[in-house]
Amino acid sequence: MRTARVGLRVTPAQRRRCFGLLLAAGDVWACALDMNRWRRQRGLAPITNFQQLCRELHKAGPGAFGDLNSPCAEGVLRRYSDAWFATAKRRADGDASARFPRRKRRLLPVRFRYGSFAIDGQRLRLAVARGRLPLWVRLDRELPYPVGQIRSVTLLNEGARLFVEVTAEVPVATYAPGTEPDPGRVAGVDLGVIHPYAVAGPEGEGLLVSGRAMRAEAHLHLKDTKHRRRAVAQRAPKPGQAGSRRWRKYRARQRKLEARHKRRIKQAQHEAAEQVVQWAVERRVGTLRVGDPRGVLELKAGRRHNQRLRDWRPGYLIRCLKDKAEQAGIRVELVDERGTSSTCPSCGRRVPKPAGRRFTCMHCGFSGHRDLVGGANIARRDPGGPITTMKRNPFPVVITHRRAGRHLPGAGPSRRDPRRRPHHGTAQGSPGRPRPAPPPQWGVARPEARINQHGRPTTNVA
Ligand SMILES: [Zn+2]
Repeated sequence: MRTARVGLRVTPAQRRRCFGLLLAAGDVWACALDMNRWRRQRGLAPITNFQQLCRELHKAGPGAFGDLNSPCAEGVLRRYSDAWFATAKRRADGDASARFPRRKRRLLPVRFRYGSFAIDGQRLRLAVARGRLPLWVRLDRELPYPVGQIRSVTLLNEGARLFVEVTAEVPVATYAPGTEPDPGRVAGVDLGVIHPYAVAGPEGEGLLVSGRAMRAEAHLHLKDTKHRRRAVAQRAPKPGQAGSRRWRKYRARQRKLEARHKRRIKQAQHEAAEQVVQWAVERRVGTLRVGDPRGVLELKAGRRHNQRLRDWRPGYLIRCLKDKAEQAGIRVELVDERGTSSTCPSCGRRVPKPAGRRFTCMHCGFSGHRDLVGGANIARRDPGGPITTMKRNPFPVVITHRRAGRHLPGAGPSRRDPRRRPHHGTAQGSPGRPRPAPPPQWGVARPEARINQHGRPTTNVA
């Protein structure tokens, strides 16, 4: 199952109806919460069973939730019921921190199952309650999947923008005999901030995906947010006070920019994962062993480091890599990454973590890229075991460099973000007026940039 997000192009009337649907879904959720609160206050057992919830819904009669039809309203109740039972199970297993659904939300995504939507080119019809006018909306791009494979469509909003998430059943990639990924060829993947993915593969090949553009985007976004917040701090409403019109405008702008930032980072992370999978497929790597760093995230590390970890989102990096790898027929294994970046891949002894990008062993004199050292050690680690001495890949000497976030402002030739003022005006040497970065070109063969591990460009190997 793969999911893609597609924007909607809507007229004002269609926009009102779409938001009406989201609002109605929020109402259904709120009704379920309110009903169970009312019951609890009277000492009655909550209604959480999906069928019973549906029965209660149908007591409300048709038309109670505007355009929202019964299957979609039932979908919201299904979500409520699933969430309730998941919490009940976690509580039964002794997790006292699990909470039952309790928060109301004004707008809730609406899921349209197979049969309750129709797709005609770039037009999409969403099912509405019986007797209502049909609702057609326009998609802002071609769907990336064949129409016959699409299983569900989810309408949602981000700030004031409307999207649909299209879920499709995509068969696993097939390969010509002799070119399919070989599970015996293992590559180790080290997740990091500077390099979201550093991959050490078989036969001394490595891949480094640079995440510097993503980090710059995160820094600039934080800086901008702080500036905006400082500018309106005076106007912030006191508790219990209604916000001014100006305050509401600020909040709307904040939400819009937050959503844009999230989209940009997400896109860059997906591109980075795609590059890893492409690289692995070209080299017939059938197993990606990923070091899972999520254990260290629980530690308190101070506000600066906490912010860094929040921007990093390693869980999401793992998830997108897993999705894309499985689609390509590559297995992903998670292993404990503790100690992998401070162990020498050559002699296996512990070495203090390097401050820069270069790892040097004081015992045997080995030297290499720090993130690839992590990757090489992860490749040799068994899921759930220590670093073994089992068949080790030679340390990468041929390294492919890729960049994530080529769409990000400032990642282009100027390498400056247009949100920063060009500090030299039109003076010589100044990047000048801000330009958008060139769009990434998928499927077009890029010249292979290959650099050996000492950073010197070699003659083109390919
Ligand atoms: Zn060593």
